[in-house]
Amino acid sequence: MSKRFLIIGAGFSGAVLANRLVNLLDCTVEIWDERTHSGGNCYTKRDEETNIMVHQYGPHIFNTDKKEIWDYVNSFGEFKNYVHRVKALSAGKIYSLPISLFTINQFFNKCFTPDEAREFLDSIADKSITDPQNFEEQALRFIGEDLYKAFFYGYTKKQWGCEPTALPASILKRIPVRFNYDDNYHTNEFTGIPKDGYSSIIDKMMDHPSISIKLGKKFESGSDTSAYSHVFYTGPLDAYFKFSHGRLGYRTVTFEKFYAHGDYQGLSQMNYCDVEVPYTRVVEHKHFTPWEKHEKTVFFKEFSKETGPNDEPYYPKRLHNDKEMLRHYRNEAESLEGISFLGRLATYRYMDMHHVIGEALTFADVFAKSYAGRKKLPVFSNTEEF
Ligand code: UDP
Repeated sequence: MSKRFLIIGAGFSGAVLANRLVNLLDCTVEIWDERTHSGGNCYTKRDEETNIMVHQYGPHIFNTDKKEIWDYVNSFGEFKNYVHRVKALSAGKIYSLPISLFTINQFFNKCFTPDEAREFLDSIADKSITDPQNFEEQALRFIGEDLYKAFFYGYTKKQWGCEPTALPASILKRIPVRFNYDDNYHTNEFTGIPKDGYSSIIDKMMDHPSISIKLGKKFESGSDTSAYSHVFYTGPLDAYFKFSHGRLGYRTVTFEKFYAHGDYQGLSQMNYCDVEVPYTRVVEHKHFTPWEKHEKTVFFKEFSKETGPNDEPYYPKRLHNDKEMLRHYRNEAESLEGISFLGRLATYRYMDMHHVIGEALTFADVFAKSYAGRKKLPVFSNTEEF
């Protein structure tokens, strides 16, 4: 007899998992999401006043080095070529980000060649730091104090609400330093934006006769799920356990929306690196779809703050005490049966879309194999704890 599975959350994790499970196993899948829309934080919708496709929870640019993931997402809809180019405003001047030969020459008012710039950065880097233990040490070790203060210190303090010394070095490692004039914000081989928005891709993944979706349906742990052979939970891990070990630290983002005629800032993303400016960045969505024409424009100022009980969790902070708490939650989860945890919120990690999709695909394969072979089922999509 066909099995019934329940997935909590209709974001990329839930959609990819559902799509894969119905192809691998004789099963039906029900997906619940407490929001009234699918797509999780990748939800896109055309703005009512301008008809511009807006990434409702902030900018999402698809990037991956893995051809199989690129081919997979492209099988659900067309991706148009889009290269993310970001500028940063620091102390009244506009610079190119990530830090490149252009940024270095602009900032220090020089005409360095790549080798000269490399040598110069090496001379201003703090070599006394041999094994960077946090965000600040990582920055000082590789770009020195002036560039760090101009582009990272203020922005990071606003974004994360703490001193950069409290944050892991891995956050800074997301951003490259280049000794050429390449101003692509990302380094991945495949990059693009779905022509009809992310929601169309995610909805297509779930568009299958064996998959049904219930929106506006909240899952409470402890509720009766005996009708299902297995539950997959992609929501916040601490919420599943009713915060019994405390709340995992997250930053949330709030948006202020503005309209204008024509072009407001000339590109999709301008970062505001000075700590005195209350927002972190301004995102103008019409620039994500240069193949479309719009007379008006809509843009959003992004503000970051600590996540309260009624806010959407966005960025996992992963401070020392969060990791302790995470260990308790993971241990408790490992002792449960009939439930698995996957995705950004359930594993409490700062993941990009391609990470989430890749992990959900692998997880589905491992689960299906274990399920068919009556082996122990995986509880988490990631094995490493941190
Ligand atoms: N960052 C910064 N200044 C910038 C851009 C980024 O200090 O102008 C730091 C900040 O701590 C941020 C991290 O680098 O959280 C990662 O940046 P990314 O652009 O990857 O963040 P996302 O787009 O995921 O918000």
